[in-house]
Amino acid sequence: MSISRKLFIVGAATCFSAASAWSQTYPTRSISLIVPFAAGGPTDVVARTLSVPLSRALGQTVVVENKTGAGGTLAAAQVARAAPDGYTFLIHHNGMATAPALYRKLTYNALTDFEYVSQVVDVPMTLVARKDLPAKTLPELLVYLKAQGDKVNLAHAGLGAVSHLCGMVFRQSVGVELTTVPYQGTGPAMAALLGGQVDLMCDQTTQTVPQIKAGSLRFYGVTTAQRIKALPDAPTLAEQGLKGFEVMVWHGVYAPKGTPKEATEKFNAALRLALKDPTVVARMAELGAEIVPDAKLTPEGLRGWLKQETDRWGPVIKSAGVYAD
Ligand code: ASP
Repeated sequence: MSISRKLFIVGAATCFSAASAWSQTYPTRSISLIVPFAAGGPTDVVARTLSVPLSRALGQTVVVENKTGAGGTLAAAQVARAAPDGYTFLIHHNGMATAPALYRKLTYNALTDFEYVSQVVDVPMTLVARKDLPAKTLPELLVYLKAQGDKVNLAHAGLGAVSHLCGMVFRQSVGVELTTVPYQGTGPAMAALLGGQVDLMCDQTTQTVPQIKAGSLRFYGVTTAQRIKALPDAPTLAEQGLKGFEVMVWHGVYAPKGTPKEATEKFNAALRLALKDPTVVARMAELGAEIVPDAKLTPEGLRGWLKQETDRWGPVIKSAGVYAD
């Protein structure tokens, strides 16, 4: 055997043992889980609900960090640039698939600049309003919106946020004007809605169910094709006449490109355990979030779905001519 071949084999063996030693001790310090929206909002609720069992499974604290702005794209850009050392992960939603069509100057490519860990939960949305809005039902709301024109405010979490997309789908399907008001997440937007500073919002059940049950908001229906268990008596918007109205929020976990496979695999295994934790299962069910089936709890499941959603939304958004710089 030539010397150079021998050296290659020794080198490869050294690398392999260093990698396996690394993977045996990983993680040795806390891990950041970046949330692209404000604390207290729906994405944050999912991240914080999971962070406790994730920390238990990984043997190190999973610290939830909120990096807000530009409809979630600042957080995705930060994670794309972060050191691929297994200590930074991102939890994001549909925005990963919609931002490429909405933002002309994205500094990352959602389909190539990440490692894909897993899908997490699917979450329906609800159409809600401030409690003292005169319209009590969806038909009353439609009459009210037509009469008010663009005087009615729709709160959302920025261009590319699902609250914005859902609001735009609603506006289009009922043919009304609305003035949109962006926030750093629907956590602060919900505070404004409860305080009566804005009128209307589309938001995930992970935040709205407790408020709907407490009667703190007007509630017009859920955005899914079928009724949901968390709000069994609530009609869908589609069954009330908004034909084909369907918006479902999906969440995925990502890591910077080049993160060692051992790290993404450990995080994936921890996530699977966390999603079977009885406290998590009960909490997610209570908030209307559906834990995805095992086949989607995989890197391939997330990557394939992201591609499918990017292909689906890109042309729709581009033809609507909505852009951000
Ligand atoms: N619900 C938000 C959205 O509209 C995000 C959040 O605050 O979690 O995208």
